[in-house]
Amino acid sequence: MNANIKEDIHRLLKKYWGFDSFRPLQEDIILSVLDKHDTLALLPTGGGKSLCFQVPGLALGGTTLVISPLIALMNDQVQNLKKKGISAVAISAAMNFKEIDVALNNAALGHVQFIYVSPERLQNETFVQKISYLPITLIAVDEAHCISQWGFDFRPSYRKIATLRPYFPDCKIIALTASATKDVVEDIQKQLDFKDANVFRQSFVRKNLRYVVQLEENKIERLFKLIHNIGGSGLVYVRNRKKTEELAAFLKKNKISSMAYHAGLKYEQRQSVQQQWIDNNVQVICATNAFGMGIDKPDVRFVVHLDLPESLEAYFQEAGRGGRDGKIAYSTIFYTKADQQRLIDNFQYAFPELDYVKNTYQAICNYYQIAISAGQGTNVQFDIDKICKSYNLSPILVYNSIKFLEKENYLSLIDGGFEPSKVLFTANKEDIYQFELLYPKFEPLVKTLLRSYGGLFENYVYINEKDLAYRVKISAASIMEYLAYLDKQEILSYVPQSALPKLVFMQDRVHANYLEFNPENYHRLKEQYLERINSVIEYTNNDKLCRQVQLLMYFNEFNYSDCGHCDVCISKRPKDYETVKTKLLTSLKNKSLTLEQLKDKMKSSNDETWIKAFNELIDDNIIVEEESIFYLKKDSKERL
Ligand code: ADP
Ligand code: MG
Repeated sequence: MNANIKEDIHRLLKKYWGFDSFRPLQEDIILSVLDKHDTLALLPTGGGKSLCFQVPGLALGGTTLVISPLIALMNDQVQNLKKKGISAVAISAAMNFKEIDVALNNAALGHVQFIYVSPERLQNETFVQKISYLPITLIAVDEAHCISQWGFDFRPSYRKIATLRPYFPDCKIIALTASATKDVVEDIQKQLDFKDANVFRQSFVRKNLRYVVQLEENKIERLFKLIHNIGGSGLVYVRNRKKTEELAAFLKKNKISSMAYHAGLKYEQRQSVQQQWIDNNVQVICATNAFGMGIDKPDVRFVVHLDLPESLEAYFQEAGRGGRDGKIAYSTIFYTKADQQRLIDNFQYAFPELDYVKNTYQAICNYYQIAISAGQGTNVQFDIDKICKSYNLSPILVYNSIKFLEKENYLSLIDGGFEPSKVLFTANKEDIYQFELLYPKFEPLVKTLLRSYGGLFENYVYINEKDLAYRVKISAASIMEYLAYLDKQEILSYVPQSALPKLVFMQDRVHANYLEFNPENYHRLKEQYLERINSVIEYTNNDKLCRQVQLLMYFNEFNYSDCGHCDVCISKRPKDYETVKTKLLTSLKNKSLTLEQLKDKMKSSNDETWIKAFNELIDDNIIVEEESIFYLKKDSKERL
């Protein structure tokens, strides 16, 4: 490999990110891409996958096409790139035709370095035709496990990615994921038509994580103790919204600063909770699994699960949010036998009968007034509560029916990636002038818009209805009403802000009797789901094998020795272990000692035992060494 290329990528890393060095494997992955190999990168969450396609994208020049499943993540990354002075746009499945047109035209005209696309878009041939004219030099598939039907997060549209290849014959694909079960790893490469298998895998060992699993009837009391003993910033995962609120309130009452986080909160609230936690103004977040994606807080000291997660993949991602700074963090599950049973019971709801799925499809189509043989590409704001009320359906069953309809590619449900309202003028200045003459009551608003925001004729521009209301001196509600009217009159295009999820109709509506489901798929999915649940239950039950080893085996990593720190390893320690440990700590309490002096102090203890304890205290950074002298770290105290 050309030495200049190495220099190049280091220069880019320094210039745009300000980092001096790559993390393990990042450089190998980037070089593999630049050496024109299809490449699959398996790095744990927070391992730095984005850099692995962004750096070679910049090095190659031209445009990198990034496929990403979540609008929120997409917008996040685009904003981060823009801050660095790199040009990037996102084309999400939630955009309307006009918005997409504007974005693509800009991409074709100017030089866009990164174009992020929702996979759903790739099902539209016109769209694919349009991007085929862009100077694409690299295709990056983020969260690539979504391609695998056997993974825990399948998205059928991901299967369409390989159909891009003929349009860009010289372009290589880099796929990235944090999910590493064997089936998924093979499936990704197969579905993306990799010419040769080429996988870079970083071990999922997290040396500084202390896994603990405990059967515990009084979970709250235990949680309370844990927070007191460990201290620092933490995350507590529970199953539903109500529990996040109750728990946060309880902790607060007991003088632990705490806030709830779940998908039912307004966008601004979620942002605020998140920020207060990141700034360490709030100690503990009580959250549903909606929390965490894209959040990068280094100093999380504990992650507690008070309800069982639905898969070990999800668990590993959630637990892995602890200790990003490399310091010790605890990943704890408190569970009861009833929790295990509940996990199994929930299974019934996850797989509604096919008739129920059909009814759900009918109800949704009717609610949004989609006619038979029409509707492909329509997207609507999806309000599950309203639909369930109107048709007397159960939210959980509807939700899971949609999951199944997604797998068969009838519908696609997309998270509500929040965007402020925006406006683009579609009429020309002359028409606007005529319109103002005819309808003078709109004049103040139109004039204020044009005066307050630039570039309204070229691009969608974010606006704020409350600001406008203040300036025009009418209510914000009237502003919204006026804008909607102007949109209808084709003076401008108005996209109001929204945080509701979007539902996309992937095909024209079919008569419910003609909905086709592959029974084999249905059964295999059912089995896979059951296997995942069983893996979680097995993990909690198995108190013979080191927790870290169990998790690694699940992700197909073998040959690891026991971590020495999890609840299982601790239970295997010699009986006098704690006494020996205390003795060590007391010996070092007021003075520093050399190894020889320590040996002397500990000579009455079993060698193996005290050396084990000694190593643990060093690992935990409680005993530190400087020039062969050992001493106790000032702020260290015995934990847990
Ligand atoms: P992933 O997608 O694997 O979960 P991200 O790409 O979001 O991870 O990166 C996680 C964090 O790690 C980001 O804040 C990123 O800036 C940081 N990071 C990535 N690579 C490096 C590096 N070489 N040096 C320092 N920080 C890095
Ligand atoms: Mg990522």
